[in-house]
Amino acid sequence: MSSTLVTGIAELTTNDPELGVLSGPTHTAVVLDGPAVAWVGPAAEAPEADVRFDAGGRAALPGWVDSHTHLVFAGDRAAEFAARMAGEPYAAGGIATTVAATRAASDAELAATVRRLGAEAMAQGTTCLETKTGYGLTVADELRSAQVAAALVDEVTFLGAHLVPPGADADSYVELVCGPMLDAVAGHVRWIDVFCERGAFDADQSRAVLTAGRERGLGLRVHGNQLGHGPGVQLAVELGAASVDHCSYLRPSDVEALASTSDTVATLLPACDLSTRGPLPDARALLAAGATVALASNCNPGSSYTTSMAFCVATAVLQLGLSIGEAVTAATLGGARALRRADVGVLRPGARADLHVLDAPTVAYLAYRPGVPLTHAVWRAGVKVA
Ligand SMILES: [Zn+2]
Repeated sequence: MSSTLVTGIAELTTNDPELGVLSGPTHTAVVLDGPAVAWVGPAAEAPEADVRFDAGGRAALPGWVDSHTHLVFAGDRAAEFAARMAGEPYAAGGIATTVAATRAASDAELAATVRRLGAEAMAQGTTCLETKTGYGLTVADELRSAQVAAALVDEVTFLGAHLVPPGADADSYVELVCGPMLDAVAGHVRWIDVFCERGAFDADQSRAVLTAGRERGLGLRVHGNQLGHGPGVQLAVELGAASVDHCSYLRPSDVEALASTSDTVATLLPACDLSTRGPLPDARALLAAGATVALASNCNPGSSYTTSMAFCVATAVLQLGLSIGEAVTAATLGGARALRRADVGVLRPGARADLHVLDAPTVAYLAYRPGVPLTHAVWRAGVKVA
């Protein structure tokens, strides 16, 4: 594999505590050698490489780490979305529509969707992608969802506990998830997740799912506090989950719990809050308390059908009150922490060579010019992909 010297970087966000943000009249350079970053520093001192790329005075940053998506699905829910925009409420049960379409789709159709959306995300600077099962909800359909995802994305999460399938008894379904379904998928996933919410799974059921996953060596993630004040955040912190996602309804005790630990990241999904016209999370309270915050797309056909992390960053700045730097950190390093990865979301020697060059001189343009495509070039693991 060849090496690439990227020169002409006007502003380099590294997320490394010692390197910080490199900017100024003399441009910065990065050397990508094979799949890893080999060197970061002043362009004038850069070592030679096989290939040169002149960023032309643009800003660069680590590729986005999108730590929460649901890409293994079939069908769309545009009509449901339009009805919601016309005043219908959002409820967890809409997931059943996607479950029916997913069960009816072939493995090849499911893989094509993951590939298409993964490529769409990468073209916009996403270089590390998590995705979940959860639209199969039978042993066979969850297994093939996990297998499809495992072949195509960085991180795969088992979300058999997304919804109690229509007609099923909740406690019997939880037993299925914790037993035969987990046995089938455990070898194909790194994480287990549960939709801990009124209308989905209560605290006891969620605890049973997460505990069963932990006993099989899986890391824990939680969908919590999206539709109301629920037990999701407290359960996630108590069990040491890597992340609790949504966090739209937080009591002061939830904020305190998230601030009390460096184990559990609060992952905010503002594109979903907008698409469901739900309340936005109190991101400022989380940051002020010292919680670790991540931003993710929650790309799924029901409540957040976007792969654009730049949109999430712009929204976080313009509507959640984050500074540009806080939002960029949350969408890169925050996502990496939510996935417990030290190799992505950061640019320093040894990190994965995931580099995103913006068509802008500073990262501020991500929110200053909202909605404008600003990706100029992308490398993932040293390979130029956009
Ligand atoms: Zn989700």
